[in-house]
Amino acid sequence: MIEIKNVSKWYGAFQVLTDCSTTINKGEVVVVCGPSGSGKSTLIKTVNALEPFQKGDIVVDGTSLTAPGTNLPKLRSRVGMVFQHFELFPHLSVTDNLTIAQIKVLGRSPDDAKTRGLKMLDRVGLSAHKDKFPGRLSGGQQQRVAIARALSMDPIVMLFDEPTSALDPEMVGEVLDVMVQLANEGMTMMCVTHEMGFAKRVSHRVIFMDAGKIVEDCKKEEFFGNAEARSPRAKDFLAKIL
Ligand code: ADP
Ligand code: MG
Repeated sequence: MIEIKNVSKWYGAFQVLTDCSTTINKGEVVVVCGPSGSGKSTLIKTVNALEPFQKGDIVVDGTSLTAPGTNLPKLRSRVGMVFQHFELFPHLSVTDNLTIAQIKVLGRSPDDAKTRGLKMLDRVGLSAHKDKFPGRLSGGQQQRVAIARALSMDPIVMLFDEPTSALDPEMVGEVLDVMVQLANEGMTMMCVTHEMGFAKRVSHRVIFMDAGKIVEDCKKEEFFGNAEARSPRAKDFLAKIL
């Protein structure tokens, strides 16, 4: 579903990604972890072409991001993205947040968009809040709306960038529950998160990044089960967060 091939990226003279390669298969849940500043957000943003890269290539569902003529906005519309800070439109109701991109980007009729959006809202357990504005919802509820909004676009893959790290602790569980449900339904997911409970429960693979490089890319069982085989940086990281 996603092939990241030898991707390198620089911000000016600073190399933020160095020769990153991995493949995420359909239905796979991959957790990306690593210290702050290691390039996790940058890597995940390159996947939906929100960040350009200077070397390598990324292929999403058979379409190369670098091939001439690739319709990036179209491709991006099929890749769901959920950020740390929800990024809902504050001046739009929950329902309008759910429908606007479906109407403007996918060309759906307002009725179709609403039907689809409200179905996804129901899926995250927030039907009762459809007419509210985001500011009236808790952080956990806003993040669930953001997930419902992404799902309304019928994504082929969902990318998460630390979706729970801006939440009060008591709200983390409700967002993780939605992510677990998605994973169990077979959604292809790439999740930057330090929630190792989530990683242990539902991920198939764990990628560990350090200083712009993919240092570890292995099955979950291997990552958590065989501490001695881990790179010193990964061992150090795990010791701090587990
Ligand atoms: P992570 O998500 O793992 O914390 P990021 O991908 O956000 O890491 O950032 C990786 C490195 O790139 C950091 O050193 C950060 O300061 C730097 N960086 C991120 N965005 C920019 C930018 N727009 N311009 C310059 N440097 C950046
Ligand atoms: Mg980040």
